Amino acid sequence: MPPSDLQIADLLKAALESGSIKPSVAQQLAASAPLPELLATATALRARGKGTVVSFSRKVFIPLTTLCRDYCSYCTFRKDPGQPGAHFMTPEEVLALAERGRAAGCKEALFSLGDQPERIFPEAREFLRRQGYRRTLDYLAAMCEMVLDKTGMLPHANPGVMDAPALARLRESNASVGLMLETVSVRLMREGLAHTKAPDKVPSLRLRTIEEAGKLRIPFTTGILIGIGETFDERLDSLFAIRAMHQKFGHIQEVIIQNFRAKPEIPMAHHPEPSVDDMLRTIAMARLILGPEMNVQAPPNLSYDEFPRLLEAGINDWGGISPVTKDFINPEAAWPHIENLRRETEARSFVLRERLAIYPEFLAREEFLAPRVRTRAQELLTRQSSAGNANSYAAQPVRKIKVQAASR
Ligand code: SF4
Repeated sequence: MPPSDLQIADLLKAALESGSIKPSVAQQLAASAPLPELLATATALRARGKGTVVSFSRKVFIPLTTLCRDYCSYCTFRKDPGQPGAHFMTPEEVLALAERGRAAGCKEALFSLGDQPERIFPEAREFLRRQGYRRTLDYLAAMCEMVLDKTGMLPHANPGVMDAPALARLRESNASVGLMLETVSVRLMREGLAHTKAPDKVPSLRLRTIEEAGKLRIPFTTGILIGIGETFDERLDSLFAIRAMHQKFGHIQEVIIQNFRAKPEIPMAHHPEPSVDDMLRTIAMARLILGPEMNVQAPPNLSYDEFPRLLEAGINDWGGISPVTKDFINPEAAWPHIENLRRETEARSFVLRERLAIYPEFLAREEFLAPRVRTRAQELLTRQSSAGNANSYAAQPVRKIKVQAASR
Protein backbone atom coordinates (compact mmCIF):
# COMPACT_ATOMS: atom_id res chain seq x y z
CA MET A 1 0.00 0.00 0.00
CA PRO A 2 1.44 3.42 -0.91
CA PRO A 3 2.25 5.69 2.08
CA SER A 4 -0.30 8.34 3.10
CA ASP A 5 0.35 12.09 2.68
CA LEU A 6 1.01 12.27 6.41
CA GLN A 7 3.56 9.45 6.27
CA ILE A 8 5.33 11.12 3.32
CA ALA A 9 5.46 14.42 5.21
CA ASP A 10 6.98 12.62 8.22
CA LEU A 11 9.57 10.86 6.04
CA LEU A 12 10.60 14.16 4.44
CA LYS A 13 10.85 15.84 7.84
CA ALA A 14 13.04 12.99 9.14
CA ALA A 15 15.22 13.13 5.99
CA LEU A 16 15.75 16.84 6.53
CA GLU A 17 16.59 16.46 10.20
CA SER A 18 19.00 13.55 9.80
CA GLY A 19 20.50 14.49 6.42
CA SER A 20 20.46 10.83 5.45
CA ILE A 21 17.92 8.27 4.23
CA LYS A 22 17.71 4.50 3.88
CA PRO A 23 17.07 2.75 0.54
CA SER A 24 13.55 1.70 1.58
CA VAL A 25 12.66 5.31 2.44
CA ALA A 26 14.23 6.56 -0.79
CA GLN A 27 12.03 4.19 -2.79
CA GLN A 28 8.89 5.41 -1.00
CA LEU A 29 9.76 9.08 -1.45
CA ALA A 30 10.80 8.68 -5.09
CA ALA A 31 7.54 6.92 -5.90
CA SER A 32 5.07 8.90 -3.80
CA ALA A 33 6.35 12.30 -2.60
CA PRO A 34 4.77 15.26 -4.41
CA LEU A 35 7.47 17.01 -6.45
CA PRO A 36 7.16 20.46 -4.76
CA GLU A 37 7.65 18.93 -1.28
CA LEU A 38 10.57 16.83 -2.48
CA LEU A 39 12.24 19.88 -4.04
CA ALA A 40 11.66 21.95 -0.89
CA THR A 41 13.43 19.30 1.23
CA ALA A 42 16.34 19.04 -1.20
CA THR A 43 16.62 22.83 -1.28
CA ALA A 44 16.70 23.03 2.52
CA LEU A 45 19.42 20.36 2.67
CA ARG A 46 21.51 22.20 0.06
CA ALA A 47 21.11 25.46 2.01
CA ARG A 48 22.30 23.71 5.18
CA GLY A 49 25.44 22.28 3.58
CA LYS A 50 26.29 24.86 0.95
CA GLY A 51 24.58 28.12 1.88
CA THR A 52 23.77 30.14 -1.23
CA VAL A 53 26.97 29.41 -3.17
CA VAL A 54 26.71 27.76 -6.58
CA SER A 55 30.04 27.04 -8.23
CA PHE A 56 31.47 26.34 -11.66
CA SER A 57 34.91 25.64 -13.12
CA ARG A 58 36.34 27.56 -16.07
CA LYS A 59 37.71 24.77 -18.24
CA VAL A 60 39.06 23.92 -21.63
CA PHE A 61 37.85 20.61 -23.04
CA ILE A 62 40.65 18.48 -24.56
CA PRO A 63 39.28 15.49 -26.55
CA LEU A 64 42.52 13.49 -26.52
CA THR A 65 41.09 10.77 -28.74
CA THR A 66 37.69 10.05 -30.20
CA LEU A 67 38.63 6.39 -30.80
CA CYS A 68 36.94 4.07 -28.32
CA ARG A 69 36.53 0.32 -27.97
CA ASP A 70 32.96 0.70 -26.66
CA TYR A 71 29.80 1.34 -28.62
CA CYS A 72 27.33 2.91 -26.17
CA SER A 73 24.02 3.36 -27.94
CA TYR A 74 23.71 7.03 -26.91
CA CYS A 75 27.21 8.20 -27.87
CA THR A 76 28.07 10.67 -30.63
CA PHE A 77 31.64 11.23 -29.41
CA ARG A 78 33.24 7.92 -30.36
CA LYS A 79 34.56 7.19 -33.83
CA ASP A 80 36.12 4.22 -35.63
CA PRO A 81 39.39 4.79 -37.49
CA GLY A 82 38.63 6.26 -40.92
CA GLN A 83 35.35 7.90 -39.89
CA PRO A 84 35.14 11.70 -40.10
CA GLY A 85 36.27 13.09 -36.73
CA ALA A 86 38.37 10.04 -35.78
CA HIS A 87 41.48 11.48 -34.20
CA PHE A 88 44.27 11.10 -31.67
CA MET A 89 45.62 14.51 -30.63
CA THR A 90 49.39 14.95 -30.89
CA PRO A 91 51.28 16.60 -28.02
CA GLU A 92 51.56 19.75 -30.14
CA GLU A 93 47.78 19.86 -30.63
CA VAL A 94 47.16 19.26 -26.93
CA LEU A 95 49.49 22.07 -25.93
CA ALA A 96 48.09 24.53 -28.49
CA LEU A 97 44.53 23.91 -27.26
CA ALA A 98 45.57 24.11 -23.62
CA GLU A 99 47.32 27.43 -24.30
CA ARG A 100 44.14 28.78 -25.89
CA GLY A 101 42.29 27.82 -22.73
CA ARG A 102 44.86 29.41 -20.47
CA ALA A 103 44.76 32.62 -22.48
CA ALA A 104 40.97 32.69 -22.00
CA GLY A 105 41.33 32.40 -18.22
CA CYS A 106 40.67 28.64 -17.90
CA LYS A 107 42.12 26.91 -14.86
CA GLU A 108 40.98 23.36 -15.59
CA ALA A 109 42.11 21.17 -18.50
CA LEU A 110 39.41 18.50 -18.87
CA PHE A 111 40.76 15.50 -20.77
CA SER A 112 37.89 13.44 -22.18
CA LEU A 113 38.56 10.46 -24.41
CA GLY A 114 37.41 7.09 -25.61
CA ASP A 115 38.07 4.01 -23.55
CA GLN A 116 41.13 1.82 -24.35
CA PRO A 117 41.02 2.11 -28.18
CA GLU A 118 44.35 0.28 -28.47
CA ARG A 119 42.61 -2.93 -27.37
CA ILE A 120 40.82 -3.22 -30.74
CA PHE A 121 42.31 -0.72 -33.22
CA PRO A 122 45.80 -1.24 -34.76
CA GLU A 123 45.70 2.46 -35.77
CA ALA A 124 45.54 3.44 -32.09
CA ARG A 125 48.41 1.09 -31.21
CA GLU A 126 50.49 2.53 -34.04
CA PHE A 127 49.85 6.14 -32.95
CA LEU A 128 50.80 5.31 -29.37
CA ARG A 129 53.92 3.41 -30.50
CA ARG A 130 55.08 6.45 -32.49
CA GLN A 131 54.62 8.60 -29.39
CA GLY A 132 56.50 6.05 -27.26
CA TYR A 133 53.59 4.53 -25.31
CA ARG A 134 51.78 1.23 -25.12
CA ARG A 135 48.54 2.30 -23.50
CA THR A 136 46.28 5.33 -24.02
CA LEU A 137 46.28 5.80 -20.25
CA ASP A 138 50.10 6.21 -20.23
CA TYR A 139 49.94 8.75 -23.06
CA LEU A 140 47.16 10.58 -21.22
CA ALA A 141 49.26 10.80 -18.05
CA ALA A 142 52.17 12.25 -20.05
CA MET A 143 49.86 14.84 -21.65
CA CYS A 144 48.45 15.81 -18.25
CA GLU A 145 51.98 16.27 -16.91
CA MET A 146 52.87 18.42 -19.91
CA VAL A 147 49.82 20.66 -19.52
CA LEU A 148 50.39 21.04 -15.78
CA ASP A 149 54.07 21.94 -16.25
CA LYS A 150 53.79 24.16 -19.30
CA THR A 151 50.50 26.01 -18.68
CA GLY A 152 49.90 25.78 -14.93
CA MET A 153 46.30 24.68 -15.56
CA LEU A 154 45.02 21.81 -13.42
CA PRO A 155 44.28 18.62 -15.37
CA HIS A 156 41.14 16.59 -14.68
CA ALA A 157 41.22 13.30 -16.62
CA ASN A 158 38.09 11.41 -17.57
CA PRO A 159 39.36 8.44 -19.61
CA GLY A 160 36.97 5.60 -18.70
CA VAL A 161 37.90 2.55 -16.68
CA MET A 162 41.32 2.79 -14.98
CA ASP A 163 43.45 0.33 -13.05
CA ALA A 164 45.47 1.18 -9.93
CA PRO A 165 48.81 1.88 -11.72
CA ALA A 166 47.11 4.27 -14.17
CA LEU A 167 45.33 6.07 -11.34
CA ALA A 168 48.56 6.32 -9.36
CA ARG A 169 50.32 7.95 -12.30
CA LEU A 170 47.41 10.34 -13.02
CA ARG A 171 47.44 11.38 -9.38
CA GLU A 172 50.87 12.94 -9.93
CA SER A 173 49.46 15.55 -12.32
CA ASN A 174 45.69 15.68 -11.82
CA ALA A 175 43.79 17.84 -9.35
CA SER A 176 40.94 15.33 -9.55
CA VAL A 177 39.97 12.39 -11.74
CA GLY A 178 36.55 11.39 -13.04
CA LEU A 179 34.55 8.38 -14.13
CA MET A 180 30.78 8.43 -14.44
CA LEU A 181 29.37 5.34 -12.79
CA GLU A 182 26.35 5.95 -15.05
CA THR A 183 24.35 3.05 -13.63
CA VAL A 184 24.71 -0.11 -11.58
CA SER A 185 22.21 -1.85 -13.83
CA VAL A 186 23.84 -4.93 -15.40
CA ARG A 187 20.52 -5.38 -17.21
CA LEU A 188 21.48 -2.59 -19.64
CA MET A 189 24.21 -4.87 -21.06
CA ARG A 190 21.54 -7.17 -22.51
CA GLU A 191 21.01 -7.41 -26.26
CA GLY A 192 19.39 -4.30 -27.72
CA LEU A 193 19.92 -2.10 -24.65
CA ALA A 194 22.22 0.89 -24.10
CA HIS A 195 25.36 -0.98 -23.04
CA THR A 196 25.12 -4.14 -25.17
CA LYS A 197 28.37 -3.40 -26.98
CA ALA A 198 30.18 -1.54 -24.22
CA PRO A 199 32.52 -3.83 -22.25
CA ASP A 200 33.77 -0.93 -20.12
CA LYS A 201 30.25 -0.21 -18.86
CA VAL A 202 30.14 -3.36 -16.72
CA PRO A 203 29.15 -1.73 -13.41
CA SER A 204 31.57 -3.78 -11.28
CA LEU A 205 34.53 -2.55 -13.37
CA ARG A 206 33.51 1.06 -12.85
CA LEU A 207 32.93 0.57 -9.14
CA ARG A 208 36.38 -1.01 -8.89
CA THR A 209 37.95 2.08 -10.53
CA ILE A 210 36.15 4.33 -8.04
CA GLU A 211 37.31 2.10 -5.20
CA GLU A 212 40.96 2.12 -6.36
CA ALA A 213 40.82 5.92 -6.57
CA GLY A 214 39.56 5.96 -3.00
CA LYS A 215 42.46 3.81 -1.81
CA LEU A 216 44.86 6.20 -3.55
CA ARG A 217 43.21 9.29 -2.03
CA ILE A 218 42.27 10.87 -5.34
CA PRO A 219 39.50 13.50 -5.27
CA PHE A 220 36.97 11.86 -7.51
CA THR A 221 34.10 12.97 -9.72
CA THR A 222 31.39 10.50 -10.60
CA GLY A 223 27.68 10.47 -11.29
CA ILE A 224 24.74 8.86 -12.99
CA LEU A 225 23.34 9.09 -16.50
CA ILE A 226 19.56 9.04 -16.50
CA GLY A 227 17.10 8.10 -19.22
CA ILE A 228 19.13 5.33 -20.93
CA GLY A 229 16.67 2.57 -20.09
CA GLU A 230 17.22 2.21 -16.35
CA THR A 231 14.36 2.14 -13.86
CA PHE A 232 14.01 4.77 -11.15
CA ASP A 233 14.90 2.16 -8.53
CA GLU A 234 18.10 1.42 -10.46
CA ARG A 235 18.95 5.14 -10.32
CA LEU A 236 18.52 5.02 -6.56
CA ASP A 237 20.72 1.89 -6.37
CA SER A 238 23.44 3.75 -8.30
CA LEU A 239 23.27 6.73 -5.93
CA PHE A 240 23.49 4.42 -2.92
CA ALA A 241 26.51 2.67 -4.47
CA ILE A 242 28.24 6.05 -4.82
CA ARG A 243 27.33 6.95 -1.25
CA ALA A 244 28.76 3.65 0.00
CA MET A 245 32.07 4.39 -1.76
CA HIS A 246 32.22 7.82 -0.18
CA GLN A 247 31.43 6.45 3.23
CA LYS A 248 34.32 4.04 2.87
CA PHE A 249 36.98 6.32 1.41
CA GLY A 250 35.70 9.92 1.70
CA HIS A 251 37.00 10.78 -1.78
CA ILE A 252 33.92 11.62 -3.84
CA GLN A 253 34.17 15.35 -4.43
CA GLU A 254 31.11 15.73 -6.63
CA VAL A 255 28.23 13.72 -8.07
CA ILE A 256 26.87 14.62 -11.49
CA ILE A 257 23.29 13.94 -12.52
CA GLN A 258 23.37 13.90 -16.30
CA ASN A 259 20.35 13.51 -18.53
CA PHE A 260 20.27 11.56 -21.81
CA ARG A 261 19.62 13.67 -24.89
CA ALA A 262 18.52 12.03 -28.15
CA LYS A 263 20.49 12.84 -31.30
CA PRO A 264 19.62 11.80 -34.85
CA GLU A 265 22.82 9.85 -35.51
CA ILE A 266 22.73 7.50 -32.50
CA PRO A 267 21.12 4.05 -32.19
CA MET A 268 18.90 5.51 -29.43
CA ALA A 269 17.71 8.39 -31.66
CA HIS A 270 14.06 7.59 -30.92
CA HIS A 271 14.45 6.75 -27.24
CA PRO A 272 12.43 9.16 -25.06
CA GLU A 273 14.40 11.81 -23.18
CA PRO A 274 13.81 12.30 -19.45
CA SER A 275 11.45 15.22 -18.79
CA VAL A 276 12.54 18.21 -16.72
CA ASP A 277 10.33 16.97 -13.86
CA ASP A 278 12.02 13.56 -14.02
CA MET A 279 15.41 15.28 -13.86
CA LEU A 280 14.29 17.44 -10.92
CA ARG A 281 12.95 14.43 -9.01
CA THR A 282 16.20 12.51 -9.60
CA ILE A 283 18.42 15.42 -8.49
CA ALA A 284 16.29 15.95 -5.39
CA MET A 285 16.62 12.25 -4.51
CA ALA A 286 20.38 12.51 -5.04
CA ARG A 287 20.53 15.38 -2.55
CA LEU A 288 18.47 13.40 -0.01
CA ILE A 289 20.63 10.28 -0.43
CA LEU A 290 24.03 12.02 -0.55
CA GLY A 291 23.31 14.57 2.17
CA PRO A 292 23.83 18.31 2.61
CA GLU A 293 27.64 18.32 2.29
CA MET A 294 28.03 16.55 -1.04
CA ASN A 295 28.60 18.64 -4.16
CA VAL A 296 25.76 17.81 -6.52
CA GLN A 297 26.08 18.97 -10.10
CA ALA A 298 23.89 19.06 -13.21
CA PRO A 299 25.16 20.30 -16.57
CA PRO A 300 23.23 23.43 -17.58
CA ASN A 301 23.69 22.93 -21.32
CA LEU A 302 21.68 19.68 -21.35
CA SER A 303 18.54 21.40 -20.08
CA TYR A 304 18.72 24.27 -22.56
CA ASP A 305 16.58 27.30 -21.56
CA GLU A 306 15.15 25.49 -18.55
CA PHE A 307 18.54 25.07 -16.86
CA PRO A 308 17.86 27.57 -14.00
CA ARG A 309 15.10 25.24 -12.75
CA LEU A 310 17.78 22.69 -11.80
CA LEU A 311 18.61 24.96 -8.86
CA GLU A 312 15.19 24.12 -7.40
CA ALA A 313 16.27 20.51 -6.88
CA GLY A 314 19.31 21.04 -4.66
CA ILE A 315 22.33 21.26 -6.97
CA ASN A 316 25.21 23.51 -5.86
CA ASP A 317 27.45 23.27 -8.94
CA TRP A 318 27.15 23.80 -12.69
CA GLY A 319 30.30 21.85 -13.57
CA GLY A 320 32.89 22.90 -16.11
CA ILE A 321 32.00 25.76 -18.43
CA SER A 322 34.27 26.38 -21.39
CA PRO A 323 34.74 29.79 -22.93
CA VAL A 324 36.81 28.30 -25.79
CA THR A 325 35.70 24.78 -26.74
CA LYS A 326 32.32 23.13 -27.32
CA ASP A 327 30.97 20.21 -25.33
CA PHE A 328 32.47 17.45 -27.48
CA ILE A 329 30.28 14.81 -25.81
CA ASN A 330 27.08 16.76 -26.59
CA PRO A 331 28.22 18.99 -29.46
CA GLU A 332 24.69 20.26 -30.23
CA ALA A 333 24.26 21.63 -26.67
CA ALA A 334 26.26 24.84 -26.27
CA TRP A 335 27.22 25.94 -22.76
CA PRO A 336 25.53 29.10 -21.58
CA HIS A 337 27.92 32.04 -21.50
CA ILE A 338 29.36 32.58 -18.05
CA GLU A 339 27.64 35.98 -17.76
CA ASN A 340 24.29 34.38 -18.59
CA LEU A 341 24.95 31.67 -16.01
CA ARG A 342 25.76 34.35 -13.43
CA ARG A 343 22.66 36.40 -14.28
CA GLU A 344 20.28 33.44 -14.06
CA THR A 345 21.92 32.07 -10.90
CA GLU A 346 21.97 35.40 -9.09
CA ALA A 347 18.40 36.20 -10.15
CA ARG A 348 17.44 33.29 -7.88
CA SER A 349 19.34 34.73 -4.91
CA PHE A 350 22.43 32.51 -5.23
CA VAL A 351 26.04 33.60 -5.49
CA LEU A 352 27.95 32.20 -8.48
CA ARG A 353 31.57 31.40 -7.65
CA GLU A 354 34.37 30.06 -9.74
CA ARG A 355 36.15 27.03 -8.32
CA LEU A 356 39.13 24.95 -9.36
CA ALA A 357 39.06 21.34 -10.61
CA ILE A 358 39.42 20.39 -6.96
CA TYR A 359 36.83 21.56 -4.43
CA PRO A 360 38.03 23.66 -1.46
CA GLU A 361 37.18 21.02 1.14
CA PHE A 362 39.61 18.61 -0.58
CA LEU A 363 42.34 21.16 -1.13
CA ALA A 364 42.34 21.67 2.62
CA ARG A 365 43.28 18.00 3.16
CA GLU A 366 47.00 17.19 2.82
CA GLU A 367 46.50 13.57 1.79
CA PHE A 368 44.41 14.41 -1.28
CA LEU A 369 46.86 16.12 -3.62
CA ALA A 370 50.32 15.43 -5.02
CA PRO A 371 52.77 18.18 -3.95
CA ARG A 372 53.39 19.33 -7.51
CA VAL A 373 49.65 19.76 -8.16
CA ARG A 374 49.15 21.48 -4.80
CA THR A 375 51.80 24.06 -5.70
CA ARG A 376 50.02 24.85 -8.97
CA ALA A 377 46.64 25.05 -7.26
CA GLN A 378 48.02 27.48 -4.69
CA GLU A 379 49.50 29.61 -7.47
CA LEU A 380 46.10 29.83 -9.16
CA LEU A 381 44.43 30.79 -5.90
CA THR A 382 47.03 33.44 -5.14
CA ARG A 383 46.64 34.90 -8.62
CA GLN A 384 42.87 35.00 -8.21
CA SER A 385 42.93 36.66 -4.82
CA SER A 386 45.56 39.21 -5.85
CA ALA A 387 43.33 40.04 -8.83
CA GLY A 388 40.66 40.86 -6.21
CA ASN A 389 38.10 38.39 -7.56
CA ALA A 390 35.55 38.28 -4.74
CA ASN A 391 33.52 35.69 -6.62
CA SER A 392 36.40 33.27 -6.92
CA TYR A 393 37.13 30.00 -5.27
CA ALA A 394 39.77 31.65 -3.06
CA ALA A 395 37.06 33.72 -1.39
CA GLN A 396 35.10 30.66 -0.29
CA PRO A 397 35.25 29.44 3.27
CA VAL A 398 37.07 26.10 3.45
CA ARG A 399 34.96 23.45 5.07
CA LYS A 400 35.87 19.83 5.73
CA ILE A 401 33.57 17.38 4.06
CA LYS A 402 31.51 15.40 6.52
CA VAL A 403 31.04 11.75 5.69
CA GLN A 404 27.48 10.72 6.45
CA ALA A 405 27.05 7.80 8.83
CA ALA A 406 26.10 4.57 7.08
CA SER A 407 22.38 3.91 7.18
CA ARG A 408 21.88 0.94 4.90
S1 SF4 B 1 30.12 7.01 -23.99
FE1 SF4 B 1 32.35 6.86 -23.65
S2 SF4 B 1 32.72 4.65 -23.48
FE2 SF4 B 1 30.70 4.88 -24.44
S3 SF4 B 1 31.13 4.83 -26.64
FE3 SF4 B 1 31.14 6.98 -26.02
S4 SF4 B 1 33.27 7.45 -25.61
FE4 SF4 B 1 33.09 5.24 -25.62
